[in-house]
Amino acid sequence: MSKREGCGIAGIALPHGNAASPLFYALYALQHRGQESAGIAVSSSLDGGVENERGGMKRDITLKKGMGLVYQVFSSQHLESLNGNIGIGHVRYSTTGASRIENAEPLLVNYRKGKIAIAHNGNLVNAMDLRRELEREGRIFHSDTDTEVIAQLLAKELMRHDPIAALKEVMKRVIGSYSLTILLNNTLIAVRDPLGIKPLCIGTLNEGNGGMNAGYAIASESTAIETLGGNFIRDVEPGEVLMINPQQNLPRFRAEHPEAEGMDIEQYQVYRCVNSAHCVFEYIYFARPDSVLDGRLVYDVRMKIGERLAEEDDIEADIVSPVPDSGITFAIGYAKRAGIDYLEGLIKNRYVGRTFIMPEQTSRDISVRLKLSVVQTNVVGKRIILVDDSIVRGTTSRIIVDYLKKKGAKEVHLRIGSPPIIAPCYLGIDTPTRKELVAWKRAIDEIGRLLHADSLRYLSLEGLIEAVGIDEKNLCLGCLTENYPVEIPGEVCIARQLKLTHF
Ligand code: SF4
Repeated sequence: MSKREGCGIAGIALPHGNAASPLFYALYALQHRGQESAGIAVSSSLDGGVENERGGMKRDITLKKGMGLVYQVFSSQHLESLNGNIGIGHVRYSTTGASRIENAEPLLVNYRKGKIAIAHNGNLVNAMDLRRELEREGRIFHSDTDTEVIAQLLAKELMRHDPIAALKEVMKRVIGSYSLTILLNNTLIAVRDPLGIKPLCIGTLNEGNGGMNAGYAIASESTAIETLGGNFIRDVEPGEVLMINPQQNLPRFRAEHPEAEGMDIEQYQVYRCVNSAHCVFEYIYFARPDSVLDGRLVYDVRMKIGERLAEEDDIEADIVSPVPDSGITFAIGYAKRAGIDYLEGLIKNRYVGRTFIMPEQTSRDISVRLKLSVVQTNVVGKRIILVDDSIVRGTTSRIIVDYLKKKGAKEVHLRIGSPPIIAPCYLGIDTPTRKELVAWKRAIDEIGRLLHADSLRYLSLEGLIEAVGIDEKNLCLGCLTENYPVEIPGEVCIARQLKLTHF
């Protein structure tokens, strides 16, 4: 699999203390979602702030971001200098905009009433149109990301509305996928797009756990909240906005969530969806297996995918072996259901970081062998069922099949835990064009021959939907079916019904 992830976001609100430290660990736990850059923005809701020209109070936001992995960007001195009890964080893999520091997030936007910091996971499909409109109105952009479009639009609406009404206006205009954490004055805001395409969840932090105070954590995946020793509460609902202001008192939420004692939260269901469109690849590949997404443990889904793959198969083999790491859980599920031994034919070199950049003259073969090596005694003379999560271009899969055969494998039967990827993703994942996808306009047998496999089989679409356990109407399957949940010029759209909720 060489699909690249989108981004990971986090938000922390504490009654007192420093939000930068838990944000650092949360981003560490989300590092798999983006390795190009990392950033943290914090603010204090405890001091009075500075009076703005309109008589309101504006609070300062301190931002630190840089290129690289979380531990490369932040030193302990940086974390100490990021003073504030509320904050947001981001790890990025670029889906729009080049890989450069100006595009790293959180993005900070100044407007007349104060500052907004924003972190985004997803991709807007109408960002260019909105940007042109905002530029015509005189707004100056400092990055080429769609995140800045959201921030500028929000800044504009905040001049005439309160924050929730402003967000409602923004959500009316933007089309695409967006899970957001926002820092605005003394409030941490979480927003999930009306279709819930990208994940977002909320949890509480415990008093005295690793020096952290009771508070709230927002994160792309529940595993980040677990890392902080916190308690996962629930997913942020599609179309929902949560506002967390450590100084306010809203007893209703506390009554519903006694574990949230000490902190309060406002909940607004801005859109209520008839259907949602959760990205199915979060379950197949992007999310960590120990995360719970929309009520499902990703590990369980991957086991079921592996079992289903075996149920749909009839090949005879000696061992089931994964392409590590992405194929491991599928292969365990397959081996269990098929009653065939699970044995590692490939070992991953864990010291080749995801951001490792090969010298230009490095061949594709060497780059694969740097990451994976064959355990020869496990494969020699064996008929191998080799399990991976998906195939994009197919180049890596072919090299792996050749490598196993060169080391003595008798047969290599490639089994894939998703249906063929036949179309690009426009909603937050970096995928190539149709022509570069090996499955585009090719029969399965032909793809198998191209990959030098003795046989190739993909999981059926029905099998995938059953394994995920979410109704097809509530999933995004765009890259597998060419039917997208939002309107994209030149593509087929099966629009989900949305309703603006009045509150
Ligand atoms: S098109 Fe594919 S990768 Fe993109 S959001 Fe939909 S299911 Fe996920």
